[in-house]
Amino acid sequence: MGDVINLPPAGERCAFCKRRPATRLCDMPIGHTRYIGHPPRSLMLKAQKSDNAFVKVEMERTVTCDAPVCDECATRIWADIDLCPSCKRKLKGAIR
Ligand SMILES: [Zn+2]
Ligand SMILES: [Zn+2]
Repeated sequence: MGDVINLPPAGERCAFCKRRPATRLCDMPIGHTRYIGHPPRSLMLKAQKSDNAFVKVEMERTVTCDAPVCDECATRIWADIDLCPSCKRKLKGAIR
């Protein structure tokens, strides 16, 4: 009998080594979304339900890379900020 290797399901696997389970998502900010005009209804609803009259409807947010990475492949650059290998490379290229 050969060895049975139990791979975690594809969706939960690290996107880089593809062997270990992904334990975190890459936090590299890759852009911004901005709602032009009205924000999505769900956000409008949230704003209306709030007691705070000055509640800010989230019209803008930072989009992160969100690549699933495992402990081994992730690089922690800051408290709670983990980078996937490809973003780490990009960052290295940006800092000269
Ligand atoms: Zn990995
Ligand atoms: Zn990334």
